[in-house]
Amino acid sequence: FGIQKTKTGRLKKPFVKVEDASHHYRPFYLQLSNIPLINYSVPKPCSPFDLDKTSALQKPTQAKQRNRVGCEAPGPARLRESKKKGYCECCSQKYEALQAHLLSEQHRNFAQSTQYQVVDDIISKLVYDFVESKSGISRRVKRSIGSF
Ligand SMILES: [Zn+2]
Repeated sequence: FGIQKTKTGRLKKPFVKVEDASHHYRPFYLQLSNIPLINYSVPKPCSPFDLDKTSALQKPTQAKQRNRVGCEAPGPARLRESKKKGYCECCSQKYEALQAHLLSEQHRNFAQSTQYQVVDDIISKLVYDFVESKSGISRRVKRSIGSF
């Protein structure tokens, strides 16, 4: 009775279940061991949904895995950004590593295509009122970054 895996049953409490009233789409759930609680004792500007500072210090690894340490600097997260998984709207494709995808044949073809004409059309309506750099070096650097 208990061994067989069935897809029927009740959700364990506490949970949140969201479902469209027409029942056309699969419902989605959130089941937690502890439902979020507004924590007034956490120091400002920490999120009131952060775990207590003392408990976060006791279990730093667990807190990091859960991404609950909201008050820490976002530095490490930015370093990892280049290896981020994601979805490319140009190629309509998921990718495992951002940098690798940007270097892929498909994406480079798009980046060098005329698909950005819609952006260029809007840019052409703006007024350029910066002082042009005379050395030209800074401009070249900016362009090499902009093309990728
Ligand atoms: Zn792409």
